[in-house]
Amino acid sequence: MENLGPLIKYLVIGNPISHSKSPQMQNAAFLYYNLGEPYGKIKLEPEDLPEFVAFARKHLMGFNITVPYKELIIPLLDEIDESARQASSVNTVLITNGKLKGFSTDGYGLEQAIKNNFKIDIVNNSFLFIGVGGAAQAVAWHFAKSGAKKLFLANRTIEKAELLAKKIRHAYPNVEIITFKNDDKNQLSIAIKSANTLIQATSLGLKPNDINPFDFELLKLNPQITVIDLIYHQTSLLAFAENNNITYACGKDMLVYQGARAFFIWTKLSPPINLMSQALEI
Ligand code: NAP
Repeated sequence: MENLGPLIKYLVIGNPISHSKSPQMQNAAFLYYNLGEPYGKIKLEPEDLPEFVAFARKHLMGFNITVPYKELIIPLLDEIDESARQASSVNTVLITNGKLKGFSTDGYGLEQAIKNNFKIDIVNNSFLFIGVGGAAQAVAWHFAKSGAKKLFLANRTIEKAELLAKKIRHAYPNVEIITFKNDDKNQLSIAIKSANTLIQATSLGLKPNDINPFDFELLKLNPQITVIDLIYHQTSLLAFAENNNITYACGKDMLVYQGARAFFIWTKLSPPINLMSQALEI
């Protein structure tokens, strides 16, 4: 950690980390405000986390957390924002006078991406999640808090969806939550007919030979549905949407808006969204 250099004040931590484009995105925002390029990245092993946190207290102003540490970081923090606590997921830490406060900006990021691409608000609308891993859980909590009417949670491991549903229902009894397996065509058909947006939140689609996370043909049941894939590039789902005139978006805007929210938490400056988005193309 010593070889990071004194100019680094912000980091993204994870494992793997070499693929992360957060440094170029965040540094574009810092440069816009003439604040240099203070954002770096570092790969950590799980046993390095306590040492990293001790280092961060002394030398950093904030950091982002990506897979697999969004939950593991929590016991090492001094304070945690309510929505991050509910979701057991922290992707942003603000350091003030050596104290670490955790936030989750993934839900905000997807909310803004859906607004930006589809002009759909969260409040009073219905969302179908395919996959309820870490990212989807943070988003589902945020959507429940933001007044979503109905959440459909489809997952390969049904127990995970049911546990999430139970916790969210307890905290937000007004949100209707329906769970099923992602290969249950009957339930999927019902959900697709009623949801405003389908959120593809499995990791399927990252590799070219991945199987499809659900039967895409069912999307034809609702030509008005909008589809967003959390994966950053064009997946087979998005290609299907394109070929069938279904409105869609990839995960890029979510990445930009979750990062923009982190930038605001650290600096209280208005994030230059377009510059941050352009920086990801480099
Ligand atoms: P995660 O916690 O590992 O969850 C993976 C999800 O994929 C689980 O729901 C898992 O189901 C499902 N899955 C994996 N293999 C499967 C298979 N063969 N068949 C059916 N389902 C399968 O991952 P995560 O952190 O939530 O990330 C999910 C995706 O979102 C990743 O592609 C990640 O890159 C992307 N992401 C994007 C952003 C952004 O800003 N755009 C932010 C965060 C994450 P089980 O529960 O049954 O295992």
